Amino acid sequence: MNEYDSNRILDLVKPIGYVVTKDPIEADCYVLNTCHIREKATDKVYHDIGRLKKSFRNKKKPMLLVTGCVAQAENEEMFNREKYIDGVVGPQSYHQIPSMIKKIENKINKINSTEFEVIEKFDSLNLVKNSNSKVSSFLTIQEGCDKFCHFCVVPYTRGPEYSRSFDEIIREACQLVANGAKEITLLGQNVNAYKYENQTKTYRLSDLIFELNDLKDLIEAHRECEKLMPILHLPVQSGSSKILKAMNRKHDVEEYTKIITNFKKIKPNIKFSSDFIIGYPGETEIDFQETLKLIEKIRFINSYSFIYSARPGTPASKLSIVKNEVAKKRLVELQKTLERINMQSKKEFLSQTTEVLFENKMKDQNKYFGRDKFLNSVIVESEENLSGQIFNVIINNFNHNSLFGSIVSKKIMQPN
Ligand code: SF4
Repeated sequence: MNEYDSNRILDLVKPIGYVVTKDPIEADCYVLNTCHIREKATDKVYHDIGRLKKSFRNKKKPMLLVTGCVAQAENEEMFNREKYIDGVVGPQSYHQIPSMIKKIENKINKINSTEFEVIEKFDSLNLVKNSNSKVSSFLTIQEGCDKFCHFCVVPYTRGPEYSRSFDEIIREACQLVANGAKEITLLGQNVNAYKYENQTKTYRLSDLIFELNDLKDLIEAHRECEKLMPILHLPVQSGSSKILKAMNRKHDVEEYTKIITNFKKIKPNIKFSSDFIIGYPGETEIDFQETLKLIEKIRFINSYSFIYSARPGTPASKLSIVKNEVAKKRLVELQKTLERINMQSKKEFLSQTTEVLFENKMKDQNKYFGRDKFLNSVIVESEENLSGQIFNVIINNFNHNSLFGSIVSKKIMQPN
């Protein structure tokens, strides 16, 4: 989402004369767009600012804006701690950035903009064309969260759930397609919480998908929409229902596996990726073993796993934590399990033909990078420019990051 936001910030400041610089030392204005989901994010920001100060020691100081969730969480405190900062902007106030820059240019005081003005933000963004021209583009459909999982800071930094208007999303998707996007990833803190009501209808995520597929129930969408890829990222966090309850998650393991079974019935080749928090307060060895069991059962691919880290202000931050060495040992074991399954899943592709959407040429090599339907990265050698096109590729090798193959034929994309 920060990648999407950064591009939109750029779209917002273009009309006031700012463009991207290739060389950071040439910058007149620095925007540090931050994420607060992990511990030490704040330290990282001050560290980056330290580096920035050093490189601009003999030059005119650039304007410095700190945006994103660290800005939201730290607020005014940032000005006290670091005088180099000119503006602090929360994720729901990006639309204020052009006017803030103008004020800072005119030497009006330091500016803090951290209100939750999400409606205003998207109203302003909707007026500015999305100029992103990546083959694979992001599109935010929803922001914020009302779920308040006990470990998570998102409800405090991104604010309450807000869904963008159905028409605006479709319009922006059309802009991205016109700019050359061949793949769109719909973003949200909680995409399945998407709910937009107008006078005539309540729109859900499945309505968006059906409309985007060319225009019902999300599981049905996976049955009927050929453009919906057979991969679903469904963060479970733990395989222990006891821990899920302690986390204030709204699902238990039984419900979770039921959902997976229903998806598989509809789309037998579907694969799942997930997020795991290891060492959540109260996690015993038995709870951890249940997580491993779930991983073996679902056979997740391309997942993310971290040791629990307390986020200030969340209910879980008051609980006593699992010993670090225990949590570390569990994480290593869990990642080994995920890795083994990942490698087995990659091995299944050997000698198989798979469709790949190529995104870009790799630096200094005649190699192209793309992704298959399961978001696996695929690399082939080619003299011809493959970017932005879909090819059938036969896979002849793999490692833990990527599949390697050669082009068999080009897939002709049907015009809508
Ligand atoms: S669902 Fe839970 S983990 Fe996800 S953003 Fe909301 S509070 Fe955070």
